[in-house]
Amino acid sequence: MKREVDERRIYKVNSKPVRPGPILYWMSRDQRVADNWSLLYAQQLARAVGRELIVAFCHSPGSSPISLRQLDFMIQGLKSSEKTLHDLHIPFQLLPGEPESELPALAHELEAGAVIADFNPLRKTQDLLHRIAERAPYALQEVDSHNIVPCRHVSGKQEYAAYTLRPKIEKLLPEFLTDFPGIEKQESEKPSVQSDWETFTVSFLADRSVQPVENVRPGERAAASVLKEFLEKGLASYAADRNNPVKNAQSGLSPYLHFGQISAQRIALEVHKHAGHSESREAFLEELIVRKELSDNFCLHNREYDTVDGFPDWAKKTQREHKDDPREYLYTLEQFDEAETHDALWNAAQSEMVNRGKMHGYMRMYWAKKILEWTRTPSEAMAIAIYLNDKYELDGCDPNGYAGIAWSIGGVHDRAWFERPLFGKIRYLNANGCRSKFNTKRYIDMHLSGEGGIRTLGTP
Ligand code: FAD
Repeated sequence: MKREVDERRIYKVNSKPVRPGPILYWMSRDQRVADNWSLLYAQQLARAVGRELIVAFCHSPGSSPISLRQLDFMIQGLKSSEKTLHDLHIPFQLLPGEPESELPALAHELEAGAVIADFNPLRKTQDLLHRIAERAPYALQEVDSHNIVPCRHVSGKQEYAAYTLRPKIEKLLPEFLTDFPGIEKQESEKPSVQSDWETFTVSFLADRSVQPVENVRPGERAAASVLKEFLEKGLASYAADRNNPVKNAQSGLSPYLHFGQISAQRIALEVHKHAGHSESREAFLEELIVRKELSDNFCLHNREYDTVDGFPDWAKKTQREHKDDPREYLYTLEQFDEAETHDALWNAAQSEMVNRGKMHGYMRMYWAKKILEWTRTPSEAMAIAIYLNDKYELDGCDPNGYAGIAWSIGGVHDRAWFERPLFGKIRYLNANGCRSKFNTKRYIDMHLSGEGGIRTLGTP
């Protein structure tokens, strides 16, 4: 007998019943066929009503690509998922344009029995889902396929920090970290509509000045091969080296996770199969599960996740008290963008992001904290950091980015530290701190003079 999708993953956005019509899965955040609870649930419903499952892709406002680099990565990934769906006789339809009008129009045309959507905690997507659900004559349900422990189930409020979320996740993890049933070939032979990728691509108002990068290959297969390589060659040294930006000790999985080209649950299951390296395994799973799921919790429960209004009260207070502190350096958005600061280490981090589409995790903290130090207000720092992060990072426009930037600039999920000029009680990080951890000169050489070569991720 087929295993049913756990009901705790499902959130009924409206209370309409499932009607006897085809089931439409609106793929948006979880752009994959394998290990996808939303797709599995949509197929389960389709079987229950004896009708067809249809997959439609339409961008998700708030986390849709804003540069050509991200758009290209997404489209190449989607094309390969489309092919897999085709082999499973599951029709795939591409919807260029605004989901607010496109989705209801398709659901109406199909006389859909229900629309199933991916869970995405970002404000614009949540608002949109609720607006569509209100008007829909069919059931609109959201499935959390991104978190291992469903975000709405693990906690009903904004968690204070990792230490408050961790025990809740640990308690529920054995119930949710289960293997996936397979997706089944559909019986109907109805051909897919020919996807018009060109119109779809043109419909995005992406910043075409940010070119695709060649060092990270897109798609489900590439994601699986990055995971395999990390498990074989990288996991063992993760605990020791992940904070060293001159070593390639991180997994490189964040672009795939962001676009949903791989499931975090699949990654965790595979990591568990690896005997040994227990310290590295734990360190990696802490990031993949606790930190990542904390970001979704933050964005779901704090609508101001991308502004200073989302900071904790102690941080707002200390920043008010230090608002007139003198700034030694002040830079404009253009100077930051062009990596034209006085600090070679910062410029190297910015260049790593611009040229490779992914800055090392440790440098992201340094990078964001320096933006706070070199702008007039925390509000300006937030706007600049988010703009640059979302423009260049392949994993940008993600809850992890909003939480990471709010942590660096506004003390979110952190605690008050010793008071100092300008930063107040926000945790401070400077170049000496970096020098004590890794060879900063080497990092600068790697990214400012192009030495050190580029590691290619996702080669089959
Ligand atoms: P690994 O170290 O291999 O970790 C595996 C996975 O765990 C990551 O892919 C990610 O999903 C999760 N993870 C790791 N570190 C964190 C963290 N600190 N918070 C939440 N989840 C984490 N992450 C993004 O996905 N998109 C962003 O736009 C982004 N912007 C950031 C901006 C700043 C200022 C900071 C401080 C952090 C940001 N992060 C962002 C979080 C983190 O730096 C990246 O997820 C990580 O560096 C991605 O590389 P990796 O996949 O090789 O990570």
